[in-house]
Amino acid sequence: MEISILTICYLVGSISFILGLKMLSNPAKARTGNRIAALGMTIAILATIFLYRDEEGNRLHNHAWIFGGLLIGGIIGTLAAKKVKMTAMPEMVSLFNGMGGACAALISIVEYDHLVKPALKVLSYAEQNDTEFSFSIDLSTMPVIILGLIIGSISFAGSIIAWGKLNGKIKDFSFPGQHIANLTLLAIILALGVWLWFDPIAAPRFYLIFALAILYGVMFVLPIGGADMPVVISLLNSFTGVAAACGGFLYNNKAMLTGGILVGAAGTLLTILMCKAMNRSLKNVLIGSFGGASNGGASGVKSQGNYKEISLSDAAVLLTYAHKVMIVPGYGLAVAQAQHVCHELEKILENRGVEVDYAIHPVAGRMPGHMNVLLAEADVPYDKLKEMEQANDEFGTTDVVLILGANDVVNPAAKTDPSSPIYGMPILEVEKAKNVIVNKRSMKPGYAGIENELFFQPKTSMLFGDAKKALQDLIAEIKQL
Ligand code: NDP
Repeated sequence: MEISILTICYLVGSISFILGLKMLSNPAKARTGNRIAALGMTIAILATIFLYRDEEGNRLHNHAWIFGGLLIGGIIGTLAAKKVKMTAMPEMVSLFNGMGGACAALISIVEYDHLVKPALKVLSYAEQNDTEFSFSIDLSTMPVIILGLIIGSISFAGSIIAWGKLNGKIKDFSFPGQHIANLTLLAIILALGVWLWFDPIAAPRFYLIFALAILYGVMFVLPIGGADMPVVISLLNSFTGVAAACGGFLYNNKAMLTGGILVGAAGTLLTILMCKAMNRSLKNVLIGSFGGASNGGASGVKSQGNYKEISLSDAAVLLTYAHKVMIVPGYGLAVAQAQHVCHELEKILENRGVEVDYAIHPVAGRMPGHMNVLLAEADVPYDKLKEMEQANDEFGTTDVVLILGANDVVNPAAKTDPSSPIYGMPILEVEKAKNVIVNKRSMKPGYAGIENELFFQPKTSMLFGDAKKALQDLIAEIKQL
């Protein structure tokens, strides 16, 4: 009876994950989707704690440890999520993803111990008593244990490096021939894994695989630079999903299995979509950017000549007397938390008969859909957001493009400079418009660390200042016209 209730709980959990994931694709339903999936996860966890029985019919008994862990983790997670700024969300996602990878690796370590401990006991007994011995081990779960260990460890180490890179604490690092070294390391890990599968009573080899997989995770993410981090983050996310699915398989836990597979599949799809959005193959992202630091780092910045500044009053006139304005939001808009005042500017211009839309680049900001979420927060109507292809078609008939804290996503080097780390990434072709106003605080580069020739083009004017303050001042000027 209990088993069937457990199964129903897992089914409810799995359905809620699918439903939640589906709803996440719609900004209006995303919050509800998240809550439904969280409720499903709570049901699955509680059902496992109270209803699960192992093959001998034993229930989980160490409730103090389980609830102690849940309490500590729950408090840390809640505080971190409440405290985190919107712009630091990708870092937190990376860190939490790393924790998921670590959990999967720990499951493998514990299960390996369970699997080989009886055999080790027999071995030591036989050695002490100098007797013949025989034992049998069920090796069927061994490949899953090894896979969970390798993928989970890579995901953990890679996510921690990605977290450090996103918050600027860790810099890109590469050395000549690093991709050969990485591929060799991966081949060694896989070969050791196969060896362990067929000869499992070898704890030192097991822990060597663990250490090498951690090293591989570090080496794999360290050199990836330029603008390629979004792809790597979603790839690591899919790794964690697959590693968690291995745990679900080991424990015969259907909810964990479904959850892991869903994360793995969603992460893989997102990786493919990101690659398409950046016009890169996955191989190109993982291997092509090696050594990218020399091109894409601050050292790659070269001066492009003079730029022109625009005053607030001139910018106000240009915007107010335009027929059509396209706003390009970027990471800086999120940093300044200027989405509400941006929406206010949009409404004021529209009241004066100006058509205003937003051009959304798929990797603008620091996480997939960042600009959509940011503008939805300010109640910008969804039909005003133009996807990149559509926006590029419309720039030709646009009078003024107003760029707010965006840089890499409007950098023409992606089309013109094969040595650039962002070469090949589709960009918003803002230079097709009659006038371009760029708001940022300085001439500093964006995430990819490269200078932007757009800022030096004759039709571009720079409006320096924090996006929120600049927009507030712009609105004040427009109101006086
Ligand atoms: P960028 O990082 O290229 O540029 C942002 C610009 O905003 C900077 O040049 C900065 O210039 C300016 N800025 C910062 N703070 C403010 C402020 N308070 N007011 C006004 N301007 C400000 O951002 P984009 O959105 O153009 O591009 C995103 C980049 O991030 C891409 O390279 C992408 O690949 C990468 N990325 C994206 C992820 C994703 O999933 N979307 C994840 C990880 C990386 P200044 O300092 O002079 O003000």
